[in-house]
Amino acid sequence: EAEPRSASATPSPPRRPRAKKTVVILSRKRSLYSTRRLVEAIKQRGQRPLVLDTLRCNMVLAPSHPRMIYRGVDIKGVDVVIPRIGASITGYGLAVVNHFEMMGVPVLNSAAAIAQSRDKLRALQLLCRAGLDVPRTVMAHDRSDVRTLVREVGGLPVIIKLLRGTQGVGVMIAHSIQEVQTIVNTFWDLGQEVVLQEFVAESKGQDVRALVVGDRVVGAMRRRAKKGEFRSNIHRGGEGTSVQLPDSYVEVAVKAARLLGLEITGVDMLDGSKGPRLMELNSSPGFEGLEQATKKDIAGEMIDHALRLSERQRMATLIR
Ligand code: ADP
Ligand code: GLU
Repeated sequence: EAEPRSASATPSPPRRPRAKKTVVILSRKRSLYSTRRLVEAIKQRGQRPLVLDTLRCNMVLAPSHPRMIYRGVDIKGVDVVIPRIGASITGYGLAVVNHFEMMGVPVLNSAAAIAQSRDKLRALQLLCRAGLDVPRTVMAHDRSDVRTLVREVGGLPVIIKLLRGTQGVGVMIAHSIQEVQTIVNTFWDLGQEVVLQEFVAESKGQDVRALVVGDRVVGAMRRRAKKGEFRSNIHRGGEGTSVQLPDSYVEVAVKAARLLGLEITGVDMLDGSKGPRLMELNSSPGFEGLEQATKKDIAGEMIDHALRLSERQRMATLIR
């Protein structure tokens, strides 16, 4: 049960409704494009941005009164938090996000939703169970059975994904059983889990990135892989162009976001012959490529949503 925000050591006077809201961005670096743009959008809306380095947030656990100390100072009066948690600090980052939640501060995205989407297999399991179309995927740890696994995902070529990869690193394509065997054995020897996935050939080196905020797609682009590459990530040299998504893609993207409980998410889809096929949902989506491609104020959409959620929570606290 979240404590109402008035439960603080030094009782603060009742907040005036028109006071500036403090929006915290959790980010390793304030110079990152997405962080800079979020700060800009907060200022444009007359509110107060506060960028906190996730790793410098110290959490103090105390019964019914959790606190956060940042460079020796108690962090108080935060209205809403937008975590930008990189994959390499997921563990600590989730603890910080969770701590803000325990302090009664609205957070988008929540620790539970971030954790769930970071676990790629878990996320695909949930999406698949809800009837959303994901490429055929298997996860196993059985060295003797690779041929069966390949057959299970529709035969060669097959996509092999490192469960902990990002930005296209750790996504490979294998054209022979021998190759599959070598790759999966290497990863297993390194203690890394992999999934085998059906190669969606009809997507032809393209994918769709839809940015979902709340229950809306606020911008979308089609990313095209560079020549000789099947991965369409911007970080792998892919190029993005703005697209007006068909309704079916919008529906799938929003449904997937709601299912995983993500208020802000980059939904990656492949173009299947029968419609969109979900690849993954990113809980701290970078949006430099998307803002460039679409010329839209993606940061502004995120901040507007964050302010709406914080207002909703404030009203709920007042009524309680
Ligand atoms: P990451 O999380 O590292 O970006 P993805 O799973 O999104 O990894 O894959 C990176 C890229 O590889 C995708 O953007 C897409 O272009 C390509 N890709 C991934 N899975 C498949 C697949 N099953 N079939 C065809 N192309 C794929
Ligand atoms: N991180 C994603 C990629 O590598 C998106 C980048 C962006 O939107 O700028 O494709």
